[in-house]
Amino acid sequence: MADVHSPKIRSYNMSKIKGKNTKPELLVRRYLHSKGLRFRLHDTGLPGKPDIVLPKYKVVIQVQGCFWHRHDGCKYFVVPKTRTEWWLNKINKTVSRDKENMKKLKYLGWKILIIWECEIKGEEKEKTLNSLYENIICQN
Ligand SMILES: [Zn+2]
Repeated sequence: MADVHSPKIRSYNMSKIKGKNTKPELLVRRYLHSKGLRFRLHDTGLPGKPDIVLPKYKVVIQVQGCFWHRHDGCKYFVVPKTRTEWWLNKINKTVSRDKENMKKLKYLGWKILIIWECEIKGEEKEKTLNSLYENIICQN
């Protein structure tokens, strides 16, 4: 059988170029909203402008695309076969920026919750969102 996944995965990867207000992020926001949680978006006052900030719980949520943020071992993290070095360089920069920002946020006393894009697709979605909620409201 031919590799039917390639075009799909590729267009999936490329659709992540926009970055802000991506579909997975909207999904998480809708869920939090339905739970009655209040949050701020892309808070410029915090390192790395976290996607979602819940001041009341001192929690930030980052919704990360598996390609751009290098989700190791994930099927959506596929290194492009062309301009490989260029892509890797770009992705590695993003990843080290992520690390730097997370360190700063932790130092400032924020709890950081990461949602990978693949975790809120299909069957995983409900489980992921439920455990996200648990993690937000649990204060330890
Ligand atoms: Zn992933």
